[in-house]
Amino acid sequence: MLTYEQARNKVIEEVGKRRGPSATTAVSVWDALGLVLAQQVKTDREYPPFDRSTRDGYAVHSKETAPSAQLKCVGEIKAGDTVRESLAAGTCLQIMTGAAVPSGADAVVMIEQTSREGDLVRFERTAQPGQNIVPRGSEAFAAQTILTPGMRLGYAELALAAQVGAVQLECARRPRVAILSTGDEVVLIDETPGPFQIRNSNSVSLAAQVHIAGGEPVVLGNAADRIEDLGEKIERGLKEDALVLSGGVSMGKYDLVEKVLRELETEFYFDEVAIRPGRPAVFGKCGEKFVFGLPGNPVSTMVTFELFVVPAVDLLSGAEARGLPMVEARLGEALNEKPGLTHFLPARMEGQGAEREVKMLKWQGSGDVPALRRANCFVVVPAEKEKLDVGERVEVIVRRDLF
Ligand code: AMP
Ligand code: MG
Repeated sequence: MLTYEQARNKVIEEVGKRRGPSATTAVSVWDALGLVLAQQVKTDREYPPFDRSTRDGYAVHSKETAPSAQLKCVGEIKAGDTVRESLAAGTCLQIMTGAAVPSGADAVVMIEQTSREGDLVRFERTAQPGQNIVPRGSEAFAAQTILTPGMRLGYAELALAAQVGAVQLECARRPRVAILSTGDEVVLIDETPGPFQIRNSNSVSLAAQVHIAGGEPVVLGNAADRIEDLGEKIERGLKEDALVLSGGVSMGKYDLVEKVLRELETEFYFDEVAIRPGRPAVFGKCGEKFVFGLPGNPVSTMVTFELFVVPAVDLLSGAEARGLPMVEARLGEALNEKPGLTHFLPARMEGQGAEREVKMLKWQGSGDVPALRRANCFVVVPAEKEKLDVGERVEVIVRRDLF
């Protein structure tokens, strides 16, 4: 049985073999947040395009400054002003943040370190050459490649694209991820369930998680625990980039997902993982498509999606597989877990930095969605650990939707 790290690596290895998006499309920079870039972006000119003042103050020849030295101010330069004349000897120019430093000047003295009477500016100290100036071309040279295929577009990447005038970006199409729930007890969320039925909440959480991962959810509804219905709907799901099933992968008499996938000649890379919740999780390839069979208990479905499906969505988008959103925190109470499986326990993390502490939540096991609503993370209890003490540092996987 694979550990969750081994199982994750298996996903990354197999999906990584067919890396790259299946299609790309041009997207406005306004709409491209979270997409994966499929082109190179180069600078249109040097950055900064001129020697830029980083302060409101005076442009000077540094060697003309000294404690109590005075220079005549002969004009001002605002941000955006065209600057042609060079700084004449024995003078200074008032300059604003973001304005171009005139040629000749080799320093900007911030206004706080000067005093002024009429045209005369008095300096408190000697300026250092280069101070408060960002030289032309020092951030990026002209025609420099600044964004490359496979980069995920966050606000900084989008700002950079906008800065260089790349207003349309060729991006990977979001991978289409089919979502198929299974189970005779499952009804549509807008139906009133019978006394022993449940609403299909997994399709909703899975669609949300696909979204967060950067995919496009294709919700296929629910398959009954019957070979024919499962077979039909699984084959429909296999038309998309990937298929994620919930339920039907455990040992029960009506857990038929693996059987049906096997009949469709799926190659399985794993069909259980040493974790709890989520042990029966299945990953394989059917034809050219990747299939995940996640256990149906809602918390198992959510945890195994984070562990195994997110990296696949990344790779199918042409990006690197993201790491797990893991941080360290202090355990707020002692824990006693059966060794052998890595446990993921819903918890509430509070505080910042070294003060970060996790408190466990009471829960009724992996069907307990109300408990998960109170959780903002999962404490990872390593397989070999039986006892964890109060105050011990533990790894925590945070909910991506909350952090
Ligand atoms: P299974 O993995 O099919 O054995 O299902 C395990 C548990 O998860 C059962 O209690 C199911 O009722 C529940 N479950 C299965 N599918 C869903 C679903 N789509 N939405 C909510 N709960 C589900
Ligand atoms: Mg079931």
